[in-house]
Amino acid sequence: MKIFDRRSTPLMVALLMALLAAACTGEGRQPMRIAIATFSHETCTFCPNPTGVEEWEFYGPPVRGEAVLNMGAYIQGFVGRAEEYGGVELVGILSPRNAKGGSSGSWITREAFDKYANGIADDLRQAGRLDGVYLALHGAMAVTGIPKPEAELVRRVRAAVGDIPIVVTLDLHANEDHELSDAADAVFIIKRYPHYDSTLQGERAARLMIRTIRGEYQPVMATRKPGVITPSVYQGTGVSPAMEIMERARRWENRINDVFVSVAFGFAYADVPDVGATVMVITNNDQELADRIAQDMSDYIWRVRETFAGKRLPRTEEGVRLAVAAARAGQTPVVIADHSDRTGNSTHILAELIRQGAANFCIATLADERAIQEIESRGDVGAAIAVDAGGWADQYAGDPVPIEGTLDYFGPYAQFEKVAVIRFGRNNRVIITPLLHQVTTTDIFEPLGIDFSEVEIVSLKS
Ligand SMILES: [Zn+2]
Repeated sequence: MKIFDRRSTPLMVALLMALLAAACTGEGRQPMRIAIATFSHETCTFCPNPTGVEEWEFYGPPVRGEAVLNMGAYIQGFVGRAEEYGGVELVGILSPRNAKGGSSGSWITREAFDKYANGIADDLRQAGRLDGVYLALHGAMAVTGIPKPEAELVRRVRAAVGDIPIVVTLDLHANEDHELSDAADAVFIIKRYPHYDSTLQGERAARLMIRTIRGEYQPVMATRKPGVITPSVYQGTGVSPAMEIMERARRWENRINDVFVSVAFGFAYADVPDVGATVMVITNNDQELADRIAQDMSDYIWRVRETFAGKRLPRTEEGVRLAVAAARAGQTPVVIADHSDRTGNSTHILAELIRQGAANFCIATLADERAIQEIESRGDVGAAIAVDAGGWADQYAGDPVPIEGTLDYFGPYAQFEKVAVIRFGRNNRVIITPLLHQVTTTDIFEPLGIDFSEVEIVSLKS
């Protein structure tokens, strides 16, 4: 009798493979399962338009599954490091997309917060066995009726998953306090502004998460509020004292193994109880050390508060005069950061540039949905156009500025279907977007037909 005939061979191969797979995995050596979700907003509570479900779903319904693993640099860092470890299964949990208007959005409605926070918790309950949860948050969410939304989100997640590690990453413009570190096991905050290290902090979160699940690390945290509120424009980590604060945090991390020291400078454009700077320290089961480092960092931030919060910046007339003088002296390009305009609709700088006779300037960008509609209804690319631009979003936005010029571009750009470029005056341009658009690179100019080498002064809402 033949043991292996043609019909029995596939069965034998399947049996052998099953045996081999069992031997490789071993009893009880299932892959580590880590859930990932993001729910991120920087809420300007002084801005006019609340952020409800409609705004959260403007770009589509929340994302789930594999797609979550591509949602932003923090998550990409986490995923990359987790994959290096191997034996880790990542589970994408319900995650709302970016809300319409981003940081120009005001108070998040209770309805929207409950929908997504409970959605995340419900999804986690249905995700099967989990070993950990990673939440990529921003930290400056403001919700009507919920004073500390990120802490509340983590409490709801905790109620769903029980006693497994919950690790959080935050932007440094986060307003948080001990409630978040009481609810989560570990919190990492980026150390650079501009935010070059989001991926890095995601990677560190993954490493700590996996070591904690394996029982190689036992995170304990200490949190301090130094009592210092600064506007974003003073917080660039290339200048003092923000640079020294972050350097002091890195020094602690380098001197003592397995210590993670984070500082959020906070987001000042929010009327919330935990506004302002926050220090958060993680140690490997050493509460005394965590407290000592957090206190040292907090004391240091308090000591440098005068140089940190007490800087003087030129007001509009003076700032524009300095910019025009620098451009005339050939120190181009000159960048005017219209940093406090959270609606993107204010016209103070545009009006002042015109008043002072500036040439070759570009406003990148002015948010004005109405102007876009008006241009669409009666403007042809290449033809003359007259429109009143900006100046209506709220009482801080200035007055609408009449612009008469040529429509150089009308069409899609980035996430927008309709963007307009008007050339006017002495080779000046205004780029009009329907919503706030924070320009952080020069990538915007070429697709809109603007030769950036000709631009002498560029004014950004950022
Ligand atoms: Zn930020």
